[in-house]
Amino acid sequence: MEEPRVGVIIVAGGSGKRMGGALPKQFSLVGGEPILARTINAFRKALPTSRIVVVLPAEYIEFWKNFSARFDVAKHSIVEGGKERFHSVRNGIAALSDAVDLIAVQDGVRPFASKEMILRAVACAAEKGSAIPVVKAVDSYRTIEGEESRITDRTLLRIVQTPQIFSAPILRAAYDTDFRSEFTDDASVVEYSGECVSLCEGEYTNIKITTPTDMVFAEAIVSNLGENNNNEE
Ligand code: C5P
Repeated sequence: MEEPRVGVIIVAGGSGKRMGGALPKQFSLVGGEPILARTINAFRKALPTSRIVVVLPAEYIEFWKNFSARFDVAKHSIVEGGKERFHSVRNGIAALSDAVDLIAVQDGVRPFASKEMILRAVACAAEKGSAIPVVKAVDSYRTIEGEESRITDRTLLRIVQTPQIFSAPILRAAYDTDFRSEFTDDASVVEYSGECVSLCEGEYTNIKITTPTDMVFAEAIVSNLGENNNNEE
């Protein structure tokens, strides 16, 4: 089969309120490089012919153009973000031409997706129409019920990551809807449209850098893994 043409949307349109600090987290340096630059370059390395669209908060577009010029960042186009992640993804979809078979959506704050995992997800999406990378839950989880709480069977749980990859017509059709609060990722939007989604194997090092503590983990991942991501359970 011919290689699928992949359009990549990297959503970095959030203002990073949970991180605190002056700059949104996607611009913070990890191992001397902006997180967003690492995310973009991970996709260029895995999918050299893909078109990459980066979604940024409107007020940071000029900043990013200047800032990214100081680093080695793969070619990408830039579009404005929206109120919620959902709106940012929708703007990214609108910027991609029809000449793509698959659309991959990646959180800008997940810089450690390995080439192997990205290619695994592309192969799964090419075969099944979608690919949602997940890892098994290792902590115990409790569900809150009013004042009480109840243990949840963690063997039934999976932690959901990105890149989430879909056949382009499925993703475009799914996003042609109004925002709902349960839309926390792309799988939730596609599922709401009536389509089933297929899971594939994620990676424990594919962390979403959200809190200041995550920056400590991120530095550790950079210094321990170097260029060779390795994700053993
Ligand atoms: O807010 P959350 O942590 O779920 O964000 C996940 C990703 O979605 C981040 O990379 C963030 O920049 C992006 N995002 C966005 N537009 C928004 C909110 C979040 O692109 N309005």
